[in-house]
Amino acid sequence: MPSQETRSARLPVAVLRRAVPVRMWGGKGCGTPCDFCRVVVSDTDVEYEIEAELDGQRVTLHFHPRCHDAWKAGREPPAEAVAEPLKQAAGSEQP
Ligand SMILES: [Zn+2]
Repeated sequence: MPSQETRSARLPVAVLRRAVPVRMWGGKGCGTPCDFCRVVVSDTDVEYEIEAELDGQRVTLHFHPRCHDAWKAGREPPAEAVAEPLKQAAGSEQP
C-alpha cells in the first residue's frame, strides 16, 4: 500500500478530473475521507485506493465505489454523499 504521499491537501474535484489513474486497489475503508465527496469511508464500506498521476506528480486518492464511478465518468459527487444542503440546478457542464 503506498503511503509516501501526503494526505493533508484535499484536491478540488476539478483538479481530480485531471488525474490519470495508474494503479488501483480495493479494500475496506480505514477512516480516510473520500477525495471526491469528502465523506469518510467507514470500515463497513469498500474503499478504492487509486494511485494516479496528476500534473507530473504521483498522488494517492481514496474513493467510495460510487465516487470512483462518478469520477471516471466525469460526474459530480453523488448527491446522497454530499453533506452540503445546497442544491445545484439540473443540467451540468458539457463534456
Ligand atoms: Zn465518496
